[in-house]
Amino acid sequence: MELIGFVHKYEWGKLGNDSAVAQLATLNDPQFKVDLKSTYAELWMGSHPNGPSRYKSDGSKLEEELPFLLKVLSINKALSIQVHPNKEEARRLHTSKPEIYKDPNHKPEMAIALTPFVGLCGFRPLPQIRDILLRIHPLNKLTVDDPKDLDLLAKDDEQGLRHCYEKLLNQSAIEIGLCIDSISKEYSKVLCDYNIIELYNKLKEDFPNDVGVLSIFFLNVIRLQPGQAMFLGANQIHAYLSGDVVECMACSDNVIRAGLTPKYKDINQLLSCLEYTGSPAQNKIFAPERIDDQRLLFKPPVEDFALTQLTLGRNDTEYVLKVEQSPGILLVISGQRTLESIGNNALKLKRGSIVYLPWKIGTEMRFISSGEDNTKFLTYISTPNSP
Ligand SMILES: [Zn+2]
Repeated sequence: MELIGFVHKYEWGKLGNDSAVAQLATLNDPQFKVDLKSTYAELWMGSHPNGPSRYKSDGSKLEEELPFLLKVLSINKALSIQVHPNKEEARRLHTSKPEIYKDPNHKPEMAIALTPFVGLCGFRPLPQIRDILLRIHPLNKLTVDDPKDLDLLAKDDEQGLRHCYEKLLNQSAIEIGLCIDSISKEYSKVLCDYNIIELYNKLKEDFPNDVGVLSIFFLNVIRLQPGQAMFLGANQIHAYLSGDVVECMACSDNVIRAGLTPKYKDINQLLSCLEYTGSPAQNKIFAPERIDDQRLLFKPPVEDFALTQLTLGRNDTEYVLKVEQSPGILLVISGQRTLESIGNNALKLKRGSIVYLPWKIGTEMRFISSGEDNTKFLTYISTPNSP
């Protein structure tokens, strides 16, 4: 059941063949032609109505209702700083503002890096935020009303963070712009000490006068190497800044934005549902479960999805994977194998292959190497999560 994925050409995507989305789409769909002047942002694999996959055999849409959407993202320019509501809040928001919050579902997300990736995730440890505010005076001016808030930050008290971040988000674009400029003129030492000078300059150029540029002093900067992941549960503030990732998420479009965007920012809603706990950046890297030498399971604390990463080397000429959850979608990132399962035709898998797996739990999938094609084979399979 091979599928053709759906490509979205948003302006923040990577250009032409630099984009993993364009590369995979070219191999996935013989009809697909890369326009070297276009940006290719997202490849969708699933049945979401804004971009359903089609069967390769007859071009018909994948109609199956999946609880998850699998994507590849190629990011050149930052995506907005955002949080996603939990299920209860999503239902309430959808009822009160259906034009903004278009469905009643939560939207947990997991991103696994394909190339070196930079993102923002959660708040920095609060004493670190205090240190930054003490060193950068123009930022201090826009965030600290009462010196007591700095004492609260020192004591890791979330009230201090709540006050300072709320004050920042309510500043005018003019104040924000002035602050951004004076930091780049006078505070490059602090930017260097926190290893964010390049990031700061890029964000400042792409989003002048946007409060999101100053948010990097409050939020953890996460740098993922290929294969490393982060999980974004409800109310966890985050942004994707650059790199290529495989992403899996629950089917929803509910986003509450806080910066790095010209779109609508629901600041009050954001401030009321944010999780204000601070923690070090390395704590935000999601650890998968190792099942065996070939297989890692990324199993987040939600029922909507889990991701299996299967890496086969030269010596893995045959690997058997038993279906544990169904249905699934498989995406091949590199290498070649033949996929066999009882009652189905053998399928040649190669980079860019996308396969729908509607199989019963317990079905054996055999990944077989013909000998010539035994370079490193890497595939991701998304399924619902087991309890
Ligand atoms: Zn998100």
